[in-house]
Amino acid sequence: MFFKSNTMNLNVINKVGYLTFKMLENYECINHAFSTRLGGVSSNEFESMNLCFYMGDLDSNVVKNYKIFCSAAGFDYNSLVASRQKHGTNIIKVGINDRGKGIYKEQYEESADGLITNEKGVTLVTYHADCTSIFFLDPVKKVIALAHAGWRGTAGKIVCNMIDKMIDIYGCKVKDIVCGIGPSIGKCCYEIDEKVYNQFIEIKEIDINKATTKCENNKYLLDLCEVNKQLLIKKGLEEHNIQVSDICTKCNNDLLFSHRATQKHGEMASMISLR
Ligand SMILES: [Zn+2]
Repeated sequence: MFFKSNTMNLNVINKVGYLTFKMLENYECINHAFSTRLGGVSSNEFESMNLCFYMGDLDSNVVKNYKIFCSAAGFDYNSLVASRQKHGTNIIKVGINDRGKGIYKEQYEESADGLITNEKGVTLVTYHADCTSIFFLDPVKKVIALAHAGWRGTAGKIVCNMIDKMIDIYGCKVKDIVCGIGPSIGKCCYEIDEKVYNQFIEIKEIDINKATTKCENNKYLLDLCEVNKQLLIKKGLEEHNIQVSDICTKCNNDLLFSHRATQKHGEMASMISLR
């Protein structure tokens, strides 16, 4: 397997591989990780570290995978909280009483593509296979958050919604907030049609020419990470406080699951917790 990234490290512990942002590694107040396919028990299209219950894999395999992953990457399995993702922009505030939701307890009834907390003892979880994940940290107020964003969540500006929540609920200052924008399908592979492209033209905050490239077949290539980065900068974040993954899920299908690479597939998880 060939792996190269300027912004993320590939850690391998007991054959479990996970990615961490070089920039976020400097913050001792959090633990964070983005899983890879490496080190789990699932087989075939779910090989091997599938962390999503809703893709057709055996639940017992997913539970085993979560336990294996948590022990390798340093998370407490009992502290996990996953949202009911829907490609929307809703965000749920998570507390200690929510531990296990979407993992070993019932899912939230309310759908959400973002989770936020300032409590220790909970690990926020979102799952991905081409959609990006955005990790948020305010190291001053000790607030963490995670968002799942495909093109819908990105165009719906879930990242801006998250920054508003961090300010409104916890009094965060935008200049203190640090973000990692996780592995997703890259601009090299993410072809969209004109209908989707038109949704991005509507977003006044972004430079559409930097985020997309026109193809010859009347389609466009979209850079999801770039759009989210531009939205965050327009929202007031310092550019040096944003680190963007340079890893394409589709190009790296041996390491990462990709919806565009294979119709049936497992999903990776993003995780973040306060220490
Ligand atoms: Zn690619």
